[in-house]
Amino acid sequence: MIVMKFGGTSVRDKEAVERLIKIVCKNSSQKIVVVVSALSGVTDTLTMIAQHAAKGQVEEAINLTNGLEQRHLKMAEELLTGEGLLLKEATETVKQLFAKLNEIVRVISLLEELSDMSFAKILSYGELLSSGIIFRAMLKSGLSCAFADARNIIITDGKYLKGEPQTDLICRNVQELLEREFLTNDVVITQGFISATAEGVGTTLGRGGSDYTAALIGMAANASEIQIWKDVDGVHTTDPKKVKKTRSIPVMSFNEAAELSFFGAKVLHPATIQPAIEKNIPVRVLNSMQPEKQGTLILKDELVHENGVKAISFKENITVINIYSMKMLNAFGFLTRLFEVFGKYGISVDLISTSEVNVSLTVDSERSLDGIVAELSQFAIVSVNSNKSQVSIVGKNLKETTGLAKRIFSAVSDYNITMISQGASDINISFVVNRSDLTPVVSSLHKEFFE
Ligand code: ADP
Ligand code: ASP
Ligand code: MG
Repeated sequence: MIVMKFGGTSVRDKEAVERLIKIVCKNSSQKIVVVVSALSGVTDTLTMIAQHAAKGQVEEAINLTNGLEQRHLKMAEELLTGEGLLLKEATETVKQLFAKLNEIVRVISLLEELSDMSFAKILSYGELLSSGIIFRAMLKSGLSCAFADARNIIITDGKYLKGEPQTDLICRNVQELLEREFLTNDVVITQGFISATAEGVGTTLGRGGSDYTAALIGMAANASEIQIWKDVDGVHTTDPKKVKKTRSIPVMSFNEAAELSFFGAKVLHPATIQPAIEKNIPVRVLNSMQPEKQGTLILKDELVHENGVKAISFKENITVINIYSMKMLNAFGFLTRLFEVFGKYGISVDLISTSEVNVSLTVDSERSLDGIVAELSQFAIVSVNSNKSQVSIVGKNLKETTGLAKRIFSAVSDYNITMISQGASDINISFVVNRSDLTPVVSSLHKEFFE
């Protein structure tokens, strides 16, 4: 049994869905769970709709929902022409979903109040819409396919916008579902990203969370493989949107992939990797537009032997916080106190470097920054540097690779490096540059290691 997850670009229009169906049909000698995202751009539009509603801008919000409705109706029509009953079902489902969404939007606009719970509800419409149409297109193609609502399976805690999966419940639900549905069907289609609490209140797994859904289902069902279908043929040496001559990495380890995504490569949701690691399930990243390409296979660490630099990732917008305190000299407890402040605000620190009296660290969000700075200022002198970017070199056994630092820093010697951290992990060396230097820095590094 395999899980195939198709991201927004892989379901964005009629042609994309037809490619998806061809890919599923080609693999139909085995049982398949298909996990689909919202059509590309839809979750962003739903976010805008929620924001308009929260400000009472009902007309702007409804204009946007109308636009989305037309896009989905058009797609249903294009995919299901000549299929009277399926087209009618799909069209009615879309219309019912929009009637409900518009109702929610009007209520929120009236109250001018958007709770996390209602925001999560609005966001869930993207996947509900896409899955309803794609399900019927699969039936049209002759696949024996069942539809499952992810909100009955993927159970989270009550953090509505980024729910914590409750794995025991998910395992039980997935196993029950598949035992039942695979008796009479070859394929089960469900939504990525959306989930619910045990009491049935809608939640989401956080933006980009469909990969996570696929991994959770793969883990629960003990899948032989989890395939993540995107618009790139695997994990590349760096973001192909940043540098031209990138190439796909055939094999990488779980740790490398997780590190790469933690340090900014948007190709995989970081937590995607976790449930798969637990069960040693291989994850394959593939290109739905070029399905014949081999993509990237992500395996458990012991199976990946190749040392050295694998990829470059980056975070475009980060903030460096410098904390200076004479009191730190020969003092203990200073770092504890410092990190308590970040802990209190729930902000995670990416890089850190320390000297006798100085600590520099990076965060990738400006959320709560004012509060953090105010609290730190009670016992230290604090300065904040925005407009920075963080670059990370990811690979295996980097600490043992002699001459690596020289190669990295010679390649970027024309640029100012504000902070370096080779640290704790053997698989990453990171440093901070001015945001305006990010593109040339990544290009130079890429040239040095991969061109
Ligand atoms: P989807 O939404 O279809 O699941 P995403 O858009 O989230 O897919 O991820 C694919 C995108 O990730 C690519 O279009 C690419 O620009 C970006 N990306 C960033 N870093 C990398 C990388 N190292 N390798 C491949 N893609 C990357
Ligand atoms: N549609 C959601 C998003 O855009 C989830 C996903 O595509 O992974 O964030
Ligand atoms: Mg995505």
